[in-house]
Amino acid sequence: MPYIPPAHCGRCGGALQPVAGKPGQRLCSDPGCGEITYLSPVPVVAAIVERQGKIVLVRGQGWPESWYGLVTGFLEPEESPDAAARREVAEELGLTVEQSTLIGAYPFARMNQVIIAYHMPASGEIVLDTTELAGFKEVPVEKLRPWDFGTGAAVRDFLARRRG
Ligand SMILES: [Zn+2]
Repeated sequence: MPYIPPAHCGRCGGALQPVAGKPGQRLCSDPGCGEITYLSPVPVVAAIVERQGKIVLVRGQGWPESWYGLVTGFLEPEESPDAAARREVAEELGLTVEQSTLIGAYPFARMNQVIIAYHMPASGEIVLDTTELAGFKEVPVEKLRPWDFGTGAAVRDFLARRRG
């Protein structure tokens, strides 16, 4: 579901209106309220999981058959992005992350997110979290191709760095 900015004030329910010169803010139209709503992007972590020379891609529940992506997830309070990505790899795939390298941070405007992506070599047997995931596939690094939205930019940079 793409990001839809809020239309109503969370404090009084009044209609929100744009603020001149502040694209990241909305002002409540009720003069007695005046609450500012911030449209700040939500951070999301993503992991390029490498196991035995292959990248593990996952398919979310309800996704089309051909769609596979990186392991992703939201941060818990007080959790570092690195720890959150390690946790997601453990929860979604049952793998233990052995090493972690930051690839970069990428805006994902359609979802109003900023994606913080890591390369995470991992070990163990894959045990899929079937409450969230419908499947996985393992792609040799040399056959991995970036996609042109969301986490694809992280895959592009990972491959460029790998080819050196
Ligand atoms: Zn209000």
